Amino acid sequence: MFTIDDLADRLGGYLPPDEIQQVKRAFYYAEQAHDGQRRRSGEPYVTHPLAVANILANMHMDHQSLMAAMLHDVIEDTGVSKNALAAQFGKPVAELVDGVSKLTQITFEDKAVAQAENFQKMVLAMSRDIRVIIVKLADRLHNMRTLGALRPDKKRRIARETLEIYARIAGRLGINTIRIELEDLSFQAIHPMRAERIKRAVASARGNRRSAMREIQSSLQQSLDDEALKGTVVGRQKHLLSIYKKMRDQRKPFAEIMDVFGFRIITEDVASCYRILGVVHNLYKPVPGRFKDYIAIPKANGYQSLHTTLFGQRGMPIEVQIRTREMEAMANNGIAAHWLYKAGQTDHPIAEGSHARARAWVKGLLEMQRHAGDSLEFIEHVKNDLFPDDIYVFTPKGDIMELPQGATVIDFAYSVHTDIGNNCIACRIDRHLAPLSTRLESGQTLEIITAPGARPNLAWLNFVTTAKARSAIRHALKHQQQAEAIMLGRRLLNKALTPFETSLEELDESVFGQAFRELDVTSLDALLESLGLGNRMAHVVARRLVDVAHGGDQRDQVITEGNDKAVVISGSEGMVINFARCCHPLPGDPVVGHLSVGKGLVVHRSECRNLTDLKNDPEKLFALEWSESIDDDFPVALRIEIESRRGLVAELAGLVTDADANIERIGIEERDARLSTVNLTLSVKGRVHLARIIKRIRNLPNVGKITRMAN
Ligand code: MN
Repeated sequence: MFTIDDLADRLGGYLPPDEIQQVKRAFYYAEQAHDGQRRRSGEPYVTHPLAVANILANMHMDHQSLMAAMLHDVIEDTGVSKNALAAQFGKPVAELVDGVSKLTQITFEDKAVAQAENFQKMVLAMSRDIRVIIVKLADRLHNMRTLGALRPDKKRRIARETLEIYARIAGRLGINTIRIELEDLSFQAIHPMRAERIKRAVASARGNRRSAMREIQSSLQQSLDDEALKGTVVGRQKHLLSIYKKMRDQRKPFAEIMDVFGFRIITEDVASCYRILGVVHNLYKPVPGRFKDYIAIPKANGYQSLHTTLFGQRGMPIEVQIRTREMEAMANNGIAAHWLYKAGQTDHPIAEGSHARARAWVKGLLEMQRHAGDSLEFIEHVKNDLFPDDIYVFTPKGDIMELPQGATVIDFAYSVHTDIGNNCIACRIDRHLAPLSTRLESGQTLEIITAPGARPNLAWLNFVTTAKARSAIRHALKHQQQAEAIMLGRRLLNKALTPFETSLEELDESVFGQAFRELDVTSLDALLESLGLGNRMAHVVARRLVDVAHGGDQRDQVITEGNDKAVVISGSEGMVINFARCCHPLPGDPVVGHLSVGKGLVVHRSECRNLTDLKNDPEKLFALEWSESIDDDFPVALRIEIESRRGLVAELAGLVTDADANIERIGIEERDARLSTVNLTLSVKGRVHLARIIKRIRNLPNVGKITRMAN
């Protein structure tokens, strides 16, 4: 059985003793934490993290990754906290373990496979440290190797997820050793019979071809030696899934696929690669159009190599790949190759931070690309995939939505549909109610609660990040404001027309055409809107309309000063009727309206001190009346002097609630040991309602002055 000491021996090849010691410490910690737990195979659980660490050791990963591998199931399975791990092993290791645990918690199985690509992105977005993914890949690889006695349907599900998500991520990161093994293990789990058949066919074909392989290999090697070129020729096997795919997708019979002999030549440097290519082309005739130079133009994940196909004896095709040792490491381990230690290296690669390493990898790709003079576009894709600026969240149905970093619930709602955004009133994130301004994180599931007739809120503009949400909110608000302004404008104009004993409805159509030209508006709605917004005076417009109606010769007509008919406000604070925050008018209070430019009508209490200045401008003041049917809540501020005692707040709160009102804000100032001043903001239905509440407060013991705040 593979033990921690075996692993430590292996690590001796590339890690300093103190780091090996730390890896061992993580192992013993995990052993204790998982004590008593067993794998399905009956082995002690800790054999699993040990095996995962061993996979990473074969890739020469750093000691923190290995420690995280040892501890990767500890948070999830044993209830040890992230903080406890941080205290024991430092924050970076705790972060890695936490990251792996988070990935483990997401189940992709029950979501649509069609979104596989988005899942890959989500996984990448959730792993701010690329090592998290590498550890997770190793974890998945060991789980796939030990699928064992699981039920076939469960096996297939895990295998499908592995194939669609993890194998692809491994491919994107260029970690091909893991990708290929994940692919073959998944294939065997999904199609056990087909895999078995291909495996047997490969074995027998290999037996038949053994002498031919050896012959080609030695003649290749001989021709290198003749030219004094350093290089090692090895035979290459196709893996099961790639054979299967060729048979399925290219409809080729097995024999034809296996008819190809594959070799790889590993050499010292790039110059040797091209020299060896020359030698090889001299030995066997190349198949036209099959040469590919991935050294000059690398693949998106950084893969570099020369590929060529040759005509062997009796026309048998021979595929040859030629690359340097470094390219070989890159082809096998991709991004992980960057954690390889060079002997005698003093500066610690991890000191730069794993992300810096990963960035270096991408930068390296960019460099290669620049030399190749190719478009940078595809490299941009790689970069975005690795360091996504985007976040990925689920809809309740399991669809994935992509949103920019910093997006909120409202952004999400609008990205689903404009109507959902406009009617959004609440939201559940992972089944818990959350504020609409909550910033989203990858992996969350969001459910938007809507109400018909609900409208966007001006305050949303303070936190939304997407252009779509922003413009949709603006559009909806503008629309709403327009409608309200037109309604108010109509009332104001009709009121101004009353002294002339006419109304909008009574005026002749023909009047409008001429009046509009004179007033420089295009439609009645535009005119009413500008009146409602306070950009135009209703009495001036009324005068023009009447003049036009009377053929323009009635300018001297005496107008009865007409403030006799008040404009009725029916409540519901909207976009063009606002209630002044200085005096908090309540239904029942005597009120006046002030038409403020661009804002519409602001309702003040008649006694409001702010009105004194405005009284010089009587044309902008309107008599107002409250509608009978008003049924809204209005804020009102009270100042109460009362004896200090325990439980006072609760007492007041109970009293207010019993009176069917709500407390919006409460603050207590201790004036002295005995007396307090309570500042209370309530929402009430109107003046009568308020009077009832004040009466109740008066009934409390030792109440002093109660003042309704006006300014
Ligand atoms: Mn695991």
